[in-house]
Amino acid sequence: MATKLLYLDDFDVISAVAAVLSVFKTEDGRDDVVLDQTCFYPRGGGQDWDEGVIQGPNGKLLVREVRLDEEGTVHHIGTIEGKIDENEAITCQVDKQRRNVNTRLHSAGHVIDMAVNSLGLDWVPGKGAHYPHMSFVEYDAMNEDEAVTEKIQQKVNETLQENIVNTLRYVDKEELAKLCRHVPTNIPSNKPTRVVLYGDFGVPCGGTHVKQLKDIGTIEVTKVKSKKGITKVSYHVKGIEGIN
Ligand SMILES: [Zn+2]
Repeated sequence: MATKLLYLDDFDVISAVAAVLSVFKTEDGRDDVVLDQTCFYPRGGGQDWDEGVIQGPNGKLLVREVRLDEEGTVHHIGTIEGKIDENEAITCQVDKQRRNVNTRLHSAGHVIDMAVNSLGLDWVPGKGAHYPHMSFVEYDAMNEDEAVTEKIQQKVNETLQENIVNTLRYVDKEELAKLCRHVPTNIPSNKPTRVVLYGDFGVPCGGTHVKQLKDIGTIEVTKVKSKKGITKVSYHVKGIEGIN
């Protein structure tokens, strides 16, 4: 059964009450708790999972991994101290600092994309990774402009200055194509299709975003590298070192 994803509509929700639907062991012997709803972000779209605590009346789960399965069920995985039982009411508490870092890194990926777009580059977005140790956005494109790193950096700085506030829309496929310049072929079917609009720049995305772009801080475009038809734009968000 699909878990209700509370972070989709409000990025600020990091604690919530939920009901325990099942408790079991993973293949490698860890505890796995399924809830009716959650504010824990499961790894996906290049954004890492949340960590935190699920507190019940007789015990707690220290959440160290969060996964979304094909049915849309969120698995909170870690170690139970004490006891957690089916049908109990529990409280989810997401680690705020880790979420903040992941949100900023992920939003920064979209700023890179906005910069590439406003440079008029006809690069088709591919996969992205928004982890503290590795942040990049890939494109189906070959770059031959040696000054492209500086140009993207310049546009990134301008975009951050504009400090756009995003809005959210749930859409069908037709509307999705209207709002977004590039629609990936691998749109997940196990969660609602949500478009995040930065001004008129729409991206199909299920991750968590900063409310306004200046909350990201400073983005450094560290490298642009083309190889075998793929151009990889690597970046770094200043001030996240040692947090995550
Ligand atoms: Zn995204």
